[in-house]
Formats: sequence, C-alpha cells, structure tokens
Amino acid sequence: MQQVQDGQCGLCTHFGEHHGDDQRLVNIRRERTAPETLVEECGHPKHAELHLVVTPISGCQGFEPAYVH
Ligand code: SF4
Repeated sequence: MQQVQDGQCGLCTHFGEHHGDDQRLVNIRRERTAPETLVEECGHPKHAELHLVVTPISGCQGFEPAYVH
C-alpha cells in the first residue's frame, strides 16, 4: 500500500468516476492509502475522451476533492 496525499488522483472525485461508489475507492478516500498496482480511468471532462488512466498518486490541476462518506 502507498500513502495518497491531498491533490492526488486517489482523493479526486474524477478517479474511477464511472463506477461511482466502488468500495475500493471509498476505502482509499477514508484510509488515504491505495494498492501500488491500482489504476483507474480519470473521468474529468477534459480527459474522459482521451481515456486517461492514472494511479492513485498521479495528479493534475483538475483535482476536485471527492466526498468522503
Ligand atoms: S488526473 Fe486530475 S482530474 Fe483526473 S483523477 Fe487525477 S487529479 Fe483528478
């Protein structure tokens, strides 16, 4: 597992956005850690048509914090 910091994809609302409340994504947001091997598609409108795939510790200026349940 690796630590996920503020501003990184794992804590962004667009990370894996197409599967909504996937329990793995909820756990990453709660615990702020993620498996090294996890990759997800970014759902940001500027990236979606490119099917950008990112890791939990990637990031960009489109970051928007995900709601933590
Ligand atoms: S690439 Fe940017 S918009 Fe997409 S999930 Fe990561 S921080 Fe969010």
